Amino acid sequence: MKTMKIPALEIMIRIFNDLLTLFFPRACLVCLMPLEETEQNVCLECFYNLPRLSRYASDSLQQRLAIAKAHEIKTAALFRYMPDTNMQNIVYPFKYHGNYKLAYQMGRQIAISVHAHEDFKTADYLVPVPIHPKRKRKRGYNQSEHLCLGISSVWKIPVRPDALKRNVHTKSQTKKLRDEREQNVKGVFDLDNIDDLKGCHIILVDDVLTTGSTISSCAQCLFNIPDVKISILTLAATTQSGKMNN
Ligand SMILES: [Zn+2]
Repeated sequence: MKTMKIPALEIMIRIFNDLLTLFFPRACLVCLMPLEETEQNVCLECFYNLPRLSRYASDSLQQRLAIAKAHEIKTAALFRYMPDTNMQNIVYPFKYHGNYKLAYQMGRQIAISVHAHEDFKTADYLVPVPIHPKRKRKRGYNQSEHLCLGISSVWKIPVRPDALKRNVHTKSQTKKLRDEREQNVKGVFDLDNIDDLKGCHIILVDDVLTTGSTISSCAQCLFNIPDVKISILTLAATTQSGKMNN
């Protein structure tokens, strides 16, 4: 009875998974309590307690970035980022510890919850801030690309990871001052595959906006595309110049 084997196997897998969960329960990244079956990475309570940015606070990010101010680039972020807080427990696992599925999950949350301008949802392309190929090989993925894929699954905007490339493997930005960071990323990015981007509305996507020097450098680069319109969207933003490397 061949057909009996499949349900039997399914039952065995389910029992195995239940036992696995019993001995190694999936835990919330923030409070470390076991997750419900329907929860992923973060429990509902912790997720709703993450510090969200209001539309006003999100808009004020535009004032922080010289290029955004000069070109009236609409800027939005979902959460406020502060080191040593619950947000660090969200960002570190996908930025440094291989949890790219969490980046995708957070991308979906950006699309569902951010106080974005209406025209964000009708943009032509999402472009992730690229990481150097060397770093991508080491990490196995670009976290901003997975944020884009999550956003794309809700807003149905195609992702273009091929639009920009990162030329130089910059040292960690963590201990650098604002001016040093700006110098550090100057000329780092180049346009790559942009044949069909002329006249398009592009949303640049990154994980955490700190001084904004990296994303400004990307925007500067994209402005070489004729008649392009740029917006900026990040998962989180520091409310002042904070510390975070790429
Ligand atoms: Zn929790």
